[in-house]
Amino acid sequence: MPETTFSYRLKQAMSESDLKQVDLVRMASEQGQKLGKSQVSQYLSGRTVPRAGLMAFLASALGVSEDWLSGAEPEQAPTSTTAQATHERGTGMRTFNKSSKLDNVLYDVRGPVVDEANRMEEDGTQVLKLNIGNPAPFGFRTPDEVVYDMRNQLTDCEGYSASKGLFSARKAIMQYDQIKGLPNVGMNDIYTGNGVSELINLCMSALLDSGDEILIPSPDYPLWTACATLAGGVAVHYACDEAADWNPDLDDIRAKVSPRTKAIVIINPNNPTGAVYPRDVLEGIVRIARENQLMIFSDEIYDRLCMDDVKHVSIASLAPDLFCVTFNGLSKSHMIAGFRIGWMSLSGNKRAARDYIDGLNMLSNMRICSNVPAQAIVQTALGGYQSVNDYIVPGGRVYDQREFVYQALCDIPGISVVKPKAAFYTFPKLDVKKFNITDDVQFAVDLLKEKHILVVQGSGFNWAEPDHFRIVYLPRIPVLREAMTKLGDFLATYQQA
Ligand code: PLP
Repeated sequence: MPETTFSYRLKQAMSESDLKQVDLVRMASEQGQKLGKSQVSQYLSGRTVPRAGLMAFLASALGVSEDWLSGAEPEQAPTSTTAQATHERGTGMRTFNKSSKLDNVLYDVRGPVVDEANRMEEDGTQVLKLNIGNPAPFGFRTPDEVVYDMRNQLTDCEGYSASKGLFSARKAIMQYDQIKGLPNVGMNDIYTGNGVSELINLCMSALLDSGDEILIPSPDYPLWTACATLAGGVAVHYACDEAADWNPDLDDIRAKVSPRTKAIVIINPNNPTGAVYPRDVLEGIVRIARENQLMIFSDEIYDRLCMDDVKHVSIASLAPDLFCVTFNGLSKSHMIAGFRIGWMSLSGNKRAARDYIDGLNMLSNMRICSNVPAQAIVQTALGGYQSVNDYIVPGGRVYDQREFVYQALCDIPGISVVKPKAAFYTFPKLDVKKFNITDDVQFAVDLLKEKHILVVQGSGFNWAEPDHFRIVYLPRIPVLREAMTKLGDFLATYQQA
């Protein structure tokens, strides 16, 4: 059946207003209009056109004029590219599109499945959110001393600080870096940020020219790929091998280095897999970086959340001859994700990166400084008693919750999982043949709609197959038990359509 102007415009308007067939059917019924899914399918395929009343309903539901939708009004000549303001179809209203720089940027940790969960919550449905690594809503409290010290210093923190941060904060970070064996980190090599997030963005913006390549793990914490892409670079994903405890596959890294590769990113401990990389794997990565003169970015925000006596090794400590940037912060170890404090430390061969460091300084100056009250508690947080240590041993919440979730997942037919060694995530594998899964977003939506549990699908972490999802195991065990029971019930009968 040939596409008609009406069917084409209907498709276009549905896509632009993000409404699906079921949404139109529901809206029609709410307005006392008779409209079935098969009718909408017929309209979309160009087989029939609606009667006048239904045409008016569709136009109003889709926010376009009836004349435009029916095809009576000719299409306006396109006034712009996607990067410019356009006129909304048939209404003459000027609308504003997002920059085309965002076309390939993905950040699904807070993406469309989450939007659906929010819609459900607005309609009064309780959703169990296992999608974000945000400790505070799950009852993890900031150490009292940190809150006390921030309160006491608030009135001293009313002004901007130096762009890189307060002396006291950077001194404490420098001492922490010394303990971790980072070579030649001076006070001027440390930058505080509004979370590690801001610094990832800043580093990618300062480094990548259009078409420059950067090696990023798959799966990854997707902000890395998003910021590299936004900066105009090309994120080249190297595989982390589930069969080898999710360690980076050194052969794959080597195969993916090209003359345009500038840097390699590692996330260690890893989000979403919970892997902690052993020294020999890190040495292998350093060898490849050395042979190809790559910079190393190492995101170590979970380094104080390692379990089972696993010792975290900072890759920069193994690479004094290479330029390394190591990221860390207090969002996870001190359960203060909302305070927004992270940092990065430059180490190793800084001479090779003189010009890049100029760029970092420029961008750091342009954002003036990071949140000063949060900088003021870095010294308190990094010194003395580390309450996070109580969470990661048997009897501690993070440890016990990990044990529970891991065992519960192992008991569900059709799921396999590598036990995470750090952080508070696990990245289970689904037997796609058993469940006929071809689309992991659909899997996440189906689980959400049927059991009101929100997880993030593997593709949200730049994982290419539809066979994984991430669970955040921050909730207490009774809540996790309910979630795992529901997941098991869901998968007992699940077959993707
Ligand atoms: N890096 C990793 C690996 C993360 O998982 C997260 C947050 O989940 C961040 C960085 C961002 O942390 P921040 O709160 O410091 O911006």
